Amino acid sequence: MIDIKDLHKSYQMGHNSLHVLKGINFEAHEGEMVAIMGSSGSGKSTFLNIIGMLDEADRGSYTLDGKPIKNLNEKIAAKYRNQFLGFIFQSFNLISYKSAVENVAMPLYYQGIKRNLRMDKAMHYLEKVGLADWAEHLPSELSGGQKQRVAIARAMASEPKVLLADEPTGALDSTTSYEVMELMQAINDEGKTILCVTHEDDIAHMCKRIVHLKDGIIISDDSVKQIKAKKQAHV
Ligand code: ADP
Ligand code: MG
Repeated sequence: MIDIKDLHKSYQMGHNSLHVLKGINFEAHEGEMVAIMGSSGSGKSTFLNIIGMLDEADRGSYTLDGKPIKNLNEKIAAKYRNQFLGFIFQSFNLISYKSAVENVAMPLYYQGIKRNLRMDKAMHYLEKVGLADWAEHLPSELSGGQKQRVAIARAMASEPKVLLADEPTGALDSTTSYEVMELMQAINDEGKTILCVTHEDDIAHMCKRIVHLKDGIIISDDSVKQIKAKKQAHV
């Protein structure tokens, strides 16, 4: 699904250049649920944004669902983004003056889907995240966990191949964080590929595989089963 080879990214700041990603090799197959971990500033968001085609690498190759992602014009990039990717952010990024169901329907509007069908689909996904009763409420009337559920429904509505989540629990208390992760696990159980950036160990362990970024490279990449088995062996 995702195939990345020798990916490099630097940021130019005046005369200085900050080399953030220094040769990343990474593959994710359909149905995986991968945590991308690392300390603050380790390049997690940069990496996810490149996968999400919100940013471009300087060097290396990236193939998404068999399509090479390089030098795409903005129109094609936008089409691929819409078709392949759903985004979930720490700060939810909901539109404050639109109701929950209208927020979920937004990406469908950009796909040119007619209003009735849009609203039906949006309701379907709101039901899936357990918020059918909250459809007409504004984001300001929802709790943090509910807002993130709306954002997840919105990301699902365009039926993307991959969900990309950047610190989806970063603004939530731990109970709510676990609930949101359980929802993502349920979505993954239905076959959706999920990449989830987090710096929290317990959240990462709710994924199936953990990739560690440090100093611009991947320093470990193990299945959660393997990690747990190793821990068992040491006690
Ligand atoms: P993380 O998500 O792991 O905290 P980021 O990918 O956001 O890390 O950032 C990695 C490094 O790149 C940080 O040092 C950050 O300051 C820098 N950085 C990120 N985005 C930009 C940008 N647009 N311009 C310049 N520097 C950036
Ligand atoms: Mg980040």
